[in-house]
Amino acid sequence: MSAISSLSWRTGAGAGLVLRGAEVVDPRAGIRGFHDVVISDGEIAELAGAGSVDAGELESIDAEGLLALPAFFDPHVHMRAPGHEHKEDLETGTRAAAAGGYCGVLAMPNTDPPVDWAAAVQALRRRAEREASVPTGFMAAITRAMAGEELTEMAELREAGVVAFTDDGRPVPSARVLRRALQYQKLVGGVLALHEEDPDLSGDGVMHEGSVSAAVGLAGIPAVSESTAIARDAALAAYEDARIHVLHLSARQSVEAVAAAKQAGVRVTAEVTPHHLVLTDEAVRSLDARFKMNPPLRSEDDRLALIDALRSGVIDCVATDHAPHSSEDKEVPFEEAAMGVTGLETAFPVLFTELVEPGVIELELLVERMTAGAAVFDFDPPTLAPGSEANVALFDPTAEWKAGAEGWESRSENSCFAGRRLRGRVLMTVVAGQVAYRQRSFAMGVAA
Ligand SMILES: [Zn+2]
Ligand SMILES: [Zn+2]
Repeated sequence: MSAISSLSWRTGAGAGLVLRGAEVVDPRAGIRGFHDVVISDGEIAELAGAGSVDAGELESIDAEGLLALPAFFDPHVHMRAPGHEHKEDLETGTRAAAAGGYCGVLAMPNTDPPVDWAAAVQALRRRAEREASVPTGFMAAITRAMAGEELTEMAELREAGVVAFTDDGRPVPSARVLRRALQYQKLVGGVLALHEEDPDLSGDGVMHEGSVSAAVGLAGIPAVSESTAIARDAALAAYEDARIHVLHLSARQSVEAVAAAKQAGVRVTAEVTPHHLVLTDEAVRSLDARFKMNPPLRSEDDRLALIDALRSGVIDCVATDHAPHSSEDKEVPFEEAAMGVTGLETAFPVLFTELVEPGVIELELLVERMTAGAAVFDFDPPTLAPGSEANVALFDPTAEWKAGAEGWESRSENSCFAGRRLRGRVLMTVVAGQVAYRQRSFAMGVAA
């Protein structure tokens, strides 16, 4: 395991802070209680009794009524650089991440051109050192140009610092090609992160295949397009004893396929997005392209299966699949619109509002799953245990706000939660002891 701050980012001067009287919730370390959280030299120096610390040189922040959580880790974001900087780049994308309470993200390689050779990775890492306010790791493509045919130079890419391999946006259609990639994964390490879809079954589908697609007359993508691909790849991973991570699970059958693979001892992990946990294909009746993504929003039964799987651990972590698009790509008829939604700035507040507040899942469980993506990709998960790297999200559980009403940190606005009333808001994000984000109103209210 390595520290999250070993990823590429613009490191700077660490802050000295005391978060006074915060309710510290860190399920991994078994901590829940009220403390003065002392941050210095990039670390959690101390969890002292609430109100007991004399701040001295350190900046004192009134955190009474606020939750201090381990900051989150998102293993699946599209930063759009290089090539589509009009949608997002490392600066705006990591600003969005910091605003969402994240201390680390992994960027997908389906850029223009795709990240499929070592020099491209090195250039991105240098760029992140100038532009990224949150540690950023890079995945490289499994196949050249993500064409699904010829493998990339995986050993060389690992040496250049890639965390994992994926052709995300597309599946690897050939079982023979994927099998070779799994053999290399065993040799060079990392993980194969798989966008699971059978292109023949998906066809020209633009939404979930079910009663809603029939009612609105749009071509559907059946759930088995995903689950049959997972079953094939889990069998291949078992045969090669290699590691796979299943991206953005969307359907009950997919949960069952991952559960069966885990039961059989396959080295498989899985993630789910906030939108698949909260929304269903009913939202697509509006024909609003903000509800168009791949995999598509599915049925209520699928959504409930995803929540159960998050609870049971069949799904290891939450990932946003943050996929910025310009309005030209989205403000067109549903069939023609680009697939994908942004998600970094709303993930935790949405899940807090829709799942924790109504008592569907526990706060501790959500915090665990919002940080567990780090461990899936071999990084030390964020924790608030004294002596650890200071990665903290300070969250106001009573704040009410309307998503997007004050604009976005992301360069794109294609959020499927825009305009939704949310309860709970990230006020401040500390990354390796540095303040990466302060919410505007909060920044003005704090005294030094
Ligand atoms: Zn995907
Ligand atoms: Zn994606």
